[in-house]
Amino acid sequence: MSEQKRILITGGAGFLGSHLCDRFIKEGYKVIAMDNLSTGSLDNIQHLFPLKEFEFYHHDVTKFIHVPGKLDYILHFASPASPIDYLKIPIQTLKVGSLGTHNALGLAKEKRARILVASTSEIYGDPEVHPQKEEYWGNVNPVGPRGVYDEAKRFMEAITMAYHTYHNLETRIVRIFNTYGPRMRLNDGRALPAFIGQALRGEDITVFGDGSQTRSFCYVDDLVDGIYRLLLSDYQYPVNVGNPDEITIKEFAEEIIKLTGTAQKIVYEPLPVDDPKQRKPDITKAKEILGWEPKVSRQDGLKVTYEYFKKVVLK
Ligand code: UDP
Repeated sequence: MSEQKRILITGGAGFLGSHLCDRFIKEGYKVIAMDNLSTGSLDNIQHLFPLKEFEFYHHDVTKFIHVPGKLDYILHFASPASPIDYLKIPIQTLKVGSLGTHNALGLAKEKRARILVASTSEIYGDPEVHPQKEEYWGNVNPVGPRGVYDEAKRFMEAITMAYHTYHNLETRIVRIFNTYGPRMRLNDGRALPAFIGQALRGEDITVFGDGSQTRSFCYVDDLVDGIYRLLLSDYQYPVNVGNPDEITIKEFAEEIIKLTGTAQKIVYEPLPVDDPKQRKPDITKAKEILGWEPKVSRQDGLKVTYEYFKKVVLK
């Protein structure tokens, strides 16, 4: 029998990181989750602590990362990822995307591990090309409030390619589009937890701007499957992973009102600075290279997510 593979997942106590821990445990890997718990939570991984295949390191990846023993893979997912978080901790956001990525790449080089880094559709900024293809270079305001996240992730892609080119490191880059599911934080400011939380508390639903901006929401299990396939592929350039089913935020709010049966109405609030007007992934590459496309409809994904939030809000 081949030896069990060992994987480090930075940001392992976060929304996506914890689902990745679950998936790799299920696939028979030894998993180390690393997190400084600034936006992640032990609640997301407490069910894994009894397993001997699972370890947790409470560590901030902007500091030197030490992991004893062999490592086959690294998933670098540590970062605040919602506008409210990176506006609250802008310097940490820049540091984890730059210094944190540098440390993760250095560790990968030392261990001869393959590394996959979590980039984002935010690197396209407020896109002038629609839907967004990997070849599009983006329209980012470097000095706007989202610049701390967007530019850190752009730097992450650049340094990852440089390690690939100059150190022959095996690297993978995923560009993640809006994703939802259980373990999202209720108060992370994102549209979905905001709307469901408001519905459950009997508050009006706050749509920013006129609600004509679009997003395309991917259910977390689909996203995790795309990442799993990308890690095991031999493709080193960025790949979009997301659901191309596009919807306006106003329609999305109406869907949540219907799903939750709330009697509340939509109220309109000012649009945040540099809020992208449209977003939808072109997933041709993911389909061709990874044989991947999303399977979970928004209707089904939202039902499961609503059940999760009901437990969180009403407990
Ligand atoms: N949004 C909204 N009401 C809220 C929270 C967000 O209308 O209470 C809007 C937000 O301005 C954006 C969209 O919903 O246009 C998606 O926001 P989210 O933060 O979920 O994702 P991102 O902007 O990072 O794509």
